[in-house]
Amino acid sequence: MNSHSDGPGSALLKKIYSLYQEAMGEMDQVCKEKCGYCCTCNVTLTSLEAGFLINSLSMEKRKDIQNRVRQKFPAKRYIPKMTTNMFARMCMENQDIPEEENDPAWGTCPLLENDLCTIYESRPFGCRALMSEIHCSKEGYAKIPPLVLTLNTLFLQVIEHLDQKGFSGNLSDLLAVVLSDNSQTDMPDQINDISSERLFVHNEKISVLMVPPEHQKELEPLIGKLQDLLKKKN
Ligand code: SF4
Ligand code: SF4
Repeated sequence: MNSHSDGPGSALLKKIYSLYQEAMGEMDQVCKEKCGYCCTCNVTLTSLEAGFLINSLSMEKRKDIQNRVRQKFPAKRYIPKMTTNMFARMCMENQDIPEEENDPAWGTCPLLENDLCTIYESRPFGCRALMSEIHCSKEGYAKIPPLVLTLNTLFLQVIEHLDQKGFSGNLSDLLAVVLSDNSQTDMPDQINDISSERLFVHNEKISVLMVPPEHQKELEPLIGKLQDLLKKKN
């Protein structure tokens, strides 16, 4: 794997994941092992996270993931038209927001087996951010407190900023590229080669943080810690 995915960005990403876990420690949730209702084929991630994920796996495990993605590649899946930072910027600039299609009924994540995640320790932020105060499988939907929604958006913005030269896309699409047999070049270059298929979106730096006034005071210390981490990258 190339330097893009195992450089300082990955070390910072690990710290960001830890900070999120710390911040979520106090939140009430019913999520538990073998509850895979939220593991759909619509999860997205950044190229940095895809590299981090693959780098954390043995060669044997990479092969296994490659086979899973090949065999269970979802026919219909969420393909993002914008990233979180792009959305924030477009709102700030009063631009029209493109419509997107996303339906959990399109199927499960190719990396789910017997209701367990096969790459749990390295799962991307999009998976870490899934939580609910009620049982989704019984109710048919997740109940996420407003503060957690704000936290999730904040972390998505920070991770994208960290990978601002990279891309975002559906997990199946990005892993298919990262695990392709001819993946000798730098990952963003590979993605550039096929981005004409409109599968991936360029990441952006943070233009504005989407933290509503009612959460700003409470999240101030955490935002400070995240800003300190981002400064280390520069
Ligand atoms: S978000 Fe819902 S489906 Fe996912 S682990 Fe939590 S309760 Fe289960
Ligand atoms: S990567 Fe793992 S946690 Fe994420 S959706 Fe797939 S099975 Fe679930």
